[in-house]
Amino acid sequence: MLAESAVKCVHSYPVCGYCRICFGYFGPEPAEINEGAENQLCPTGAIDRKLIEEPYYEYHIDEKLCNGCGKCVKGCNAFGNGSLHLQVRHDRCLNCNECSIAAACPSDAFRRVPADQPYLLKRADRR
Ligand code: SF4
Ligand code: SF4
Repeated sequence: MLAESAVKCVHSYPVCGYCRICFGYFGPEPAEINEGAENQLCPTGAIDRKLIEEPYYEYHIDEKLCNGCGKCVKGCNAFGNGSLHLQVRHDRCLNCNECSIAAACPSDAFRRVPADQPYLLKRADRR
């Protein structure tokens, strides 16, 4: 058993709506709209926020810190475009071919993909 989850959050930049308040990054009632730890939704501080130009920010996931909890994904799906999503990262996958993560998914949402195309990022035409 791996200590670190093989599931990580990934951000698909082309699908991001650059929402004025990113509910993948901020908690439901942030005291302030800034990078203060108390305002962030992510329990491990795995999301970096970088200003592109007012009021647009880009979000980058530090995979070493991400534990795959899915909180940011839930927020982005509820109020944004769903550009934050979870993905099994192949550098963590043991290729056991009995994926317990896929088996536990209640909506059968996991798809097997060819090993030479392990990462299929969300696109506007393929969500
Ligand atoms: S909520 Fe999702 S779509 Fe909106 S800015 Fe955040 S990451 Fe982008
Ligand atoms: S999945 Fe959880 S730990 Fe990973 S970036 Fe999102 S909120 Fe943070």
